[in-house]
Amino acid sequence: MRASRYLIATQKETPADAEIISHQLMLRAGMIRKLAAGLYTWLPMGLRTLRKVERIVREEMDKSGAQEVLMPAVQPAELWEESGRWTQYGGELLRMKDRHGRDFCFGPTHEEVITDLIRNEISSYKELPANFYQVQTKFRDERRPRFGVMRAREFLMKDAYSFHLNAESLNETYELMHRTYCAIFDRFGLDYRAVQADSGAIGGSASHEFHVLASSGEDDIVFSTGSDYAANIEKAETVAPSGTRPAPVEEMKEVATPDQKTIDAVSQLLGIDATRTVKTLLVKAEADEDGSSGLVALVLRGDHTLNEIKAENLAGVAEPLTMATDEEIEQAVGCKPGSIGPVNLNVPVIVDRSAAHLADFVCGANREGFHLTGVNWERDAALERVEDLRNVVEGDPSPDGKGTLEIRRGIEVGHIFKLGNKYSTAMNATVLDENGKTVIMDMGCYGLGVSRVVAAAIEQNHDENGIIWPDAIAPFQVAIVTLNAHKSPTVAEAGEKLYEQLRQAGYDVLLDDRKERPGVKFADMELIGIPHRFVVSERGLAAGTLEYKGRKDAEKQDVPVAEALPFLV
Ligand code: ATP
Ligand code: MG
Ligand code: MG
Ligand code: MG
Repeated sequence: MRASRYLIATQKETPADAEIISHQLMLRAGMIRKLAAGLYTWLPMGLRTLRKVERIVREEMDKSGAQEVLMPAVQPAELWEESGRWTQYGGELLRMKDRHGRDFCFGPTHEEVITDLIRNEISSYKELPANFYQVQTKFRDERRPRFGVMRAREFLMKDAYSFHLNAESLNETYELMHRTYCAIFDRFGLDYRAVQADSGAIGGSASHEFHVLASSGEDDIVFSTGSDYAANIEKAETVAPSGTRPAPVEEMKEVATPDQKTIDAVSQLLGIDATRTVKTLLVKAEADEDGSSGLVALVLRGDHTLNEIKAENLAGVAEPLTMATDEEIEQAVGCKPGSIGPVNLNVPVIVDRSAAHLADFVCGANREGFHLTGVNWERDAALERVEDLRNVVEGDPSPDGKGTLEIRRGIEVGHIFKLGNKYSTAMNATVLDENGKTVIMDMGCYGLGVSRVVAAAIEQNHDENGIIWPDAIAPFQVAIVTLNAHKSPTVAEAGEKLYEQLRQAGYDVLLDDRKERPGVKFADMELIGIPHRFVVSERGLAAGTLEYKGRKDAEKQDVPVAEALPFLV
């Protein structure tokens, strides 16, 4: 590609509303542009990387024997009513009506559609196991779309669904998908961890999340120093054997109870006596996209661990708020999201348990320092409490007894589940077994956030000059920068020659033939993050050399013109 004929939409200034580095750099490097909250256009430069991520995912999924399909993004409500999720899914589900008044949604996930397809297409055990995947646009009406494509509303996901005669077969495919995901993230060249996770709202018996490690990650993941044990923080609490479990609330109280100033403020704000009524009172604030308001109150009571309370909620006292509609929140908590009102203290509701959000919980200030009207809870105090709470888990022995636990931040880029027969039972997806008996199929599902991977890769790989792409997903692998080519035919010619040579050898090459100052070109190539750069100049050519610099290198070096290609290999 010639830069003079390509949309190099780089920007010098850091965009004011981009909070995290990947969002800033994706805008500055001309990869994406915002259309509306959580909706992004991929510019040519960004799309190249997105497609490379997709290609690697496809290749490894195909290698595993999964078959690619493409299901509609818009789904009829009837299927969601069959699975029970039409009412359960909550505010993230974008519902719509067609001209005949029939209900549809824009798919946030595709369990219903695939189960419907397969119950019609597969009738015998002989056709099992089978695994189907797609790379598809999803829509989730996230309460707080933010961080660019990291938490968008419309985003690209690879989702796969497997069908089985029995649990044993499901286990085999689950393990195969686990290995396939490792192969995919290895090929991306990212530092990641697979961790045990709760299967949560999607249901099922086992689940693993894949996290790209980055300090800006929204999730806390827990590792053992002495073994392979790794889990997300919620799971780490559940599986800890008794004796090593995190402190119950009684003890947690000491570290989590808001200080008097906070309690007073909460009491005043919510019209309750927070000191006497609850042992621990946590309040979560959420800024709406426009930054205006938003309050969800949550109350934690009793002698439970945080996790047991969450389980209790799932068992029916109240849905976790992340799954609830605004009306359901109002019913459960007694105040409208977005308003400030008295809370119903009899309903323990927990929204979210990752320590990344504990600042929100404990002091009502979110990570960007949003403050509830009338109360100036201090962000530092909130963060201190997060540290305290982390200490409850960190330094527990590992549940397998080997090593101690450490906590790191991660970005969830993949999630695999053993669904079991949750959807196949609800939707009556059966096959005939060897004896001609009708059996309900077992299912697994395997999600991977294709567009989120792009942002996560940048969170992990950047410096003060811009992005540093791993080779496998760089928009271009090599940049050739010609200096003053418009004045020097020798330079122009040598640049063209090298460009052809590298392209023929199979490299993705960007020839920066723009009539720009050298400094501008260098800065752009660094910002965009192209891993290898050759500079063609008159001075170099006179000495028979090109100048090479790897994106991560501190020093440039001269390479004889004829050795450019072997040098790269
Ligand atoms: P999160 O915890 O970040 O909200 P999730 O657990 O709701 O994600 P899953 O239902 O497990 O997401 O979906 C599979 C994958 O899709 C996730 O692992 C993530 O990589 C990606 N994903 C989910 N929500 C978004 C989003 N809003 N924007 C971009 N990618 C997303
Ligand atoms: Mg989510
Ligand atoms: Mg998640
Ligand atoms: Mg998930």
